[in-house]
Amino acid sequence: MERVSKNGMPVVGMVGGGQLARMTAQAAVALGQTLRVLAVSKDDPAARVTPDLVVGDPDDGAALRELATGCSAVTFDHEGVPQEVLAPLAEAGIPLRPAPSALVHAQDKLVMRTRLAEMGLPVPAFAAVSSPADVTAFGAEHGWPVVLKATRGGYDGRGVWFLRAGGADTDALVADLLDAGTPLLVESAVPMTRELAASIARSPFGQAAAWPVVETLQVDGQCARVTAPAPGLSGDAAARVQELALRIAEELDVVGLMTVELFETAPGEVVVNELAMRPHNSGHWTIEGSVTSQFEQHLRAVLDYPLGATAPVAPVAVMANVLGAAEEPAMSMDERLHHCFARFPDAKVHLYAKDGRPARKIGHVTVLGSSVDAVRERAELAAGWLATATWADGWSAHADDPRKDS
Ligand code: ADP
Repeated sequence: MERVSKNGMPVVGMVGGGQLARMTAQAAVALGQTLRVLAVSKDDPAARVTPDLVVGDPDDGAALRELATGCSAVTFDHEGVPQEVLAPLAEAGIPLRPAPSALVHAQDKLVMRTRLAEMGLPVPAFAAVSSPADVTAFGAEHGWPVVLKATRGGYDGRGVWFLRAGGADTDALVADLLDAGTPLLVESAVPMTRELAASIARSPFGQAAAWPVVETLQVDGQCARVTAPAPGLSGDAAARVQELALRIAEELDVVGLMTVELFETAPGEVVVNELAMRPHNSGHWTIEGSVTSQFEQHLRAVLDYPLGATAPVAPVAVMANVLGAAEEPAMSMDERLHHCFARFPDAKVHLYAKDGRPARKIGHVTVLGSSVDAVRERAELAAGWLATATWADGWSAHADDPRKDS
C-alpha cells in the first residue's frame, strides 16, 4: 500500500473528530497534507474541515482499517479505542502512533499509576477497588478525604469522586459503580497549591522536545485557563518537571504528543496526576505562543520528521476556554465575536463549531503579553464574553461613545 496522498505527501489518520483533530487538520494544511479523520458524525468539529473523512465508531475495527488504509501513521484525538480493538490492528502492521503498549498508560489510570510507581516517580498513594470495603480500608490507612476514580473512560472530571470519612453514600456509590461494570481505583487526595502540565513530543527516531511547563486552572474538574510558562516556577524546578516528562515518554516509548498533568504540593515539588498521549487542552497556547504548535509537532512526531523549536514567542501566554453557558445567550456567536474583536484586537479566538451545551468546551481564546495579570484578565474576559455575552467587569461598548444619547 502506497502511503502517500495524490500530491505525494504522507497521509496521517486521526481517530476522533473533536477539536483536537480539527486543530491538527489546520496544522496539516500548512504542511501540505490532509488529515484523514475517523469521526462518529459528519457534524463533528474535525469532520467539518477535512475532505478526507471516514464516518464510524472508534471501537469499530472495520472503520479503523478503512481509516488506516494508505496512512503513514494513525493517531488519536482521544483515548477511547479499546486495547482489544487496537491489538489486531497493531499486529496487522498498522502504524499506530503511539503504539497500544504506550497508549494504555493514558487509557487506564491503574496501569499508569502502577507503572509510574514502579519507575519511582511521585504519584499519590493508590489502590485498586473491588468492593466498598477497599475504599474504607484505604481511607483508614492513608487518611481522608480520598479520591475515587474510574480507571478507564473518564474525562474532564467525569469519573472522579471526592469522598469524605463516613460519607453516608460512599458504600452505595462504590457498589453501584462496580455493579455497572466501572473499574475503579482509590487514591489519596493530594493537598496541592496548584496544577501544572508538562507537554513534550517524541518521534520514533527518539528525538524529543519539551515546551515550557504551564499552570492549569481547573474549575469543576475541567480546565478553564492555562498560563504559560507557569508563573513563579523556578528554572530548576521547571527543568526537573520537563526531565520527568521526557523520562516517562522514553520509558513508555511514547510517539507523538504527551502531556503529564501534575499537582504542585510545595514550590517546585510535584506529584503526577495523569498522562495524555495526544494534543492536550493545556497546549492550545502553543498555536500562537510557541515557535511550533503542539498540533504541528504531533504531526511531525508521528511522521518522524525532525521536531520543531518549542521556544515561547512572548513572555506570557494565557489560554482561556470558552465553555457553553448555563443558558444559551440571545446574542448570536457571530455578534459576540464582533464585540470581542472590537474590544480585544489582539485576542486570538478558536471556535470549534460545537453547540453550546452547558460547560462544554466550544472554543478557546489565547492572549500574549508580558504581564501575567493583564494577560489573564484579557483572555478570561474575552472567553467569558464569548460564552455568555456578558462582560464580567461590566464593561460597556457604548459607555465612552460620544454619539451615545446624542
Ligand atoms: P479526568 O481524567 O477526568 O481529567 P483527573 O484524574 O485529571 O480526571 O481529575 C480531574 C481533576 O480532579 C484534577 O484536575 C484535579 O483537579 C482533581 N483531582 C484528581 N485527582 C486528585 C487527587 N488525587 N487529589 C486532589 N485532586 C485531584
